[in-house]
Amino acid sequence: MPIVPLGESGRWTNYHGTGVCEDATRFALRSGDAARGRDEIAIAAATVRAWLGEALAKGKRVRPLGAGWSPSNVNICSDAWLLHTRRFNRCFRIAASDVLPGVDAAGLMLVEAGTLVDEVSDKLEAEGRSLWTSGAGNGQTFAGAAATGTHGSMVARGGIQDHIRALQLVTPAGVHWVEPAAGVMSDAFIAATGSTVLRDDDVFAAVQLPVGALGIVTALVVDSVPKFLVRPIQNLRKVDCAALDWLAVGDFRRFSAAYALDRDPDFVQMIVNPYKPFKRPAMLRFLYAEPWRANYDQATPGEMGAGYDALSLLGRLLDDYPWARGALLQFAMKMGYAAGPDVDDPPVHGTWGEGLDTHRPLADLFNASVTIDRSDLAHVFELICGVYTRHGGSTAVTVRFMERAQGLLAPARFTHNAVIDFDGPRSPRTAEAYARVVELLDRAGVDFTRHWAKSCHLDGARVAADYGEDLQRWRAARNRLIPDPTHRAIFGSPVLDGLGLTG
Ligand SMILES: Cc1cc2nc3c(=O)[nH]c(=O)nc-3n(C[C@H](O)[C@H](O)[C@H](O)COP(=O)(O)OP(=O)(O)OC[C@H]3O[C@@H](n4cnc5c(N)ncnc54)[C@H](O)[C@@H]3O)c2cc1C
Repeated sequence: MPIVPLGESGRWTNYHGTGVCEDATRFALRSGDAARGRDEIAIAAATVRAWLGEALAKGKRVRPLGAGWSPSNVNICSDAWLLHTRRFNRCFRIAASDVLPGVDAAGLMLVEAGTLVDEVSDKLEAEGRSLWTSGAGNGQTFAGAAATGTHGSMVARGGIQDHIRALQLVTPAGVHWVEPAAGVMSDAFIAATGSTVLRDDDVFAAVQLPVGALGIVTALVVDSVPKFLVRPIQNLRKVDCAALDWLAVGDFRRFSAAYALDRDPDFVQMIVNPYKPFKRPAMLRFLYAEPWRANYDQATPGEMGAGYDALSLLGRLLDDYPWARGALLQFAMKMGYAAGPDVDDPPVHGTWGEGLDTHRPLADLFNASVTIDRSDLAHVFELICGVYTRHGGSTAVTVRFMERAQGLLAPARFTHNAVIDFDGPRSPRTAEAYARVVELLDRAGVDFTRHWAKSCHLDGARVAADYGEDLQRWRAARNRLIPDPTHRAIFGSPVLDGLGLTG
């Protein structure tokens, strides 16, 4: 049986301890041992559909869970049936005969929804392929990461959901195979997955980033690029205020030449102390893509500079000694940051997957973000630093860059985006500092969106204002996919209802 009950009803707490499901009845979706992926997901999807039918009959809401990482509590619903998908994690090759004529099957892989981003990377890299972007960590499930628009700082790429070419999604009324109108997989393949095909551009763009409100994703067809190496440079540098203007216009080469290598970088990230940001060194990370070669000196994720967890652990200190926050934050950043390899160190290389780490749970972490039009960077940065200087708050400010991402509800909705993250100890003071930032951006008339997974205090009115016409299209697509309101309601939760995504 692909679905097994997990113990007695009780409490379930999400990974970072930001939310609790009370009276949760827990189930796990597990992989089988079928030789062909299409057979395996056909069995699983039929079982999920029957399980949904049972939940509906008992008047229970359901909540699919990935790795449970989202601090925004989009993964929380009390008095509900929870479906853990983490052990539904096999990946399968796709053959040329499985796709429609004209579709290149070379980079495609069939991925069960609970597969970790890390596992997808491993499987692809074993086949000489690679993801082209992901978040800073890789411990999320692929479906969970896509559901909230997870992204990193690959400057010419969008979000992780951009890898999705087709997906299987289960609702009480059916097992759907959703892909763009042009089609991807052959009718025979889709029939073998036990799904009904739905080729529709808007429905596809809705389910690429469903925020957990559009049914249970059981499988995805994930695209990839040929495997490549990255050379990291990670250093602490005082950044000149004028450099923000270079970043705002996308002159990443100039920024890289000033602080790392005189080459076009593929990834640029800057972590700054918002107290005197140009007087204290910022933590910079650059990645330079290079063609794959087998004879590289393989580095560990640590040697490649992955992870900066100590930052949030030391964050507690910052909260206890607010009078010293500027200096303490700088100390915490320095201690927690794996400085190097720098420009003059011997170069190290790794694949995309090797440069990432699965996070440990972060002690009492607060994390929130705003995504802005990149051209507003210098102005917004000044506003943000002003808030911290005047009112306090203990978060490091991280600036990352990405292009417009796919999905009707993608927060990265500007042509060129700067994403500004606020990471620090979870405390009223930190939350208040973030609230002041967004209030000030509103007052200053700056357009911005917020991350679905982070503690960004979104509400329905805000979502409607941020996404406008695209939200209407998302809702219309949802209603085509799940016409019966009672079926839509079982995918609701206090958080998702509040965002206006259910009902
Ligand atoms: C330490 C840390 C680091 C992070 N780094 C980044 C980063 O670098 N960039 C970034 O953009 N974000 C980042 N995030 C946010 C993170 O990527 C998201 O929270 C992501 O959604 C987590 O994936 P998950 O598998 O844990 O999903 P969950 O939190 O379990 O679920 C997220 C949503 O997806 C739904 N869902 C999950 N699986 C399914 C399914 N099979 N079918 C339908 N719905 C499903 C859930 O119900 C929920 O609504 C970070 C978060 C943390 C805590």
